[in-house]
Amino acid sequence: MIELLALAVLAVTPPGGPAAGAVAPAAPAMIVVATARGESAVPVATHQGHPALSAARLAEVLPLSAVVNDGWAVVGFADQPFRFLLGAPVLLHHNRILPLVGGAYLERDTLYVPLQWLAEHVPRLFHEGYRYDPLAGRFEEARLATVMTGAVAVAVDPAAARPPSDLARRNGFRMQHQVVLDPGHGGVDNGNPGRYLASGVKEKHVTLAIGRLLEAELERRGVDVIMTRTRDTLIDLSDRARMCHHNCDLFVSIHVNSLRPRRGYEQVNGVETYFLGEALTAEARRVADMENEALRYETGGGDQMDGALEFIFKDLHTNEFLRESALLAESVQRATAAVHPGEDRGVAQNRFVVLATATRPAILLEVGFATNRRDGAYLSSTEGQRAIARAAADGIEAYLKRYEGKVLTGTGQ
Ligand SMILES: [Zn+2]
Repeated sequence: MIELLALAVLAVTPPGGPAAGAVAPAAPAMIVVATARGESAVPVATHQGHPALSAARLAEVLPLSAVVNDGWAVVGFADQPFRFLLGAPVLLHHNRILPLVGGAYLERDTLYVPLQWLAEHVPRLFHEGYRYDPLAGRFEEARLATVMTGAVAVAVDPAAARPPSDLARRNGFRMQHQVVLDPGHGGVDNGNPGRYLASGVKEKHVTLAIGRLLEAELERRGVDVIMTRTRDTLIDLSDRARMCHHNCDLFVSIHVNSLRPRRGYEQVNGVETYFLGEALTAEARRVADMENEALRYETGGGDQMDGALEFIFKDLHTNEFLRESALLAESVQRATAAVHPGEDRGVAQNRFVVLATATRPAILLEVGFATNRRDGAYLSSTEGQRAIARAAADGIEAYLKRYEGKVLTGTGQ
């Protein structure tokens, strides 16, 4: 599965590496656009020396719209805005500047967009949703349900929202939600040995117990739940978040923290929540190393993962996906810290492999330290597990309702 991810990343990496704009693809006379509605040929123009496509022609076969105004062309593609400064080799996507070999331009009142945009930037930004084969000159819709990493939450069409079940409605929801819960570790991967957990109990047992309780809490409120595991089995890290797709709203991975022996390490306690991002502190790096360790139980090596991760992390930097993940993390952290006997260790960003393949808001909750006596006892107790599950459900519910407000009023905030 690690190989699969690496391949997927290779496929979306433009020739010459992820430094987009370094190399323009060779210009074919035409490209083939293949979608669920069939295939059609789109001629490639070279008025300005670089390969370009008529936006009007593309709009016949792809979910594309274009408006030219004041020296700018705003091209909407699958509900995402791309702003081309006419004649300049750049484009803006949200707040990012993406370099181009040659820009968009007008020729006899027809807007032409660079082939490079469609061939390199679109497959990269829409991850898995589209791909371009430079040898065949073929642009393909990878599958019907487009996965849009860059616009996860705000791009949801309110009309596409599922109406709530009676149970969900009675619990104040205005849409039907689905959550994927991921009890960390499992099978040969015990997770941390659980120094102060009850005798014979390891991290993998606590994560499963809390996961099952959280599942029950959410279902009681009318939220659909999918578990990455319901038994003591090992699931590859990169497969876990992939279970959150189509109707899934968010992904929550559950773990128990621990420290290696050093001065005073048994004093460290409390709950913390992570979302994907750069490892900013030594502490975050330590936790990432610990949780990513599970890779060594998987088939294949972790080496290929490093390059793949570099690429994914760069791409995730400023997008909506991270903002939604941060809001979810804050909501769950606030709720769980309120019931936890230990410290409120807050929200942080981190490079977790398990979150790297997520295409929806995703967090990793460290429910306490097995190396702290009080946390260990709390996490081993049914009351403790129940309290954390109930609080996490409160945090998730609060996030989902706030999210409904955004989607249904269309404010994007
Ligand atoms: Zn863990």
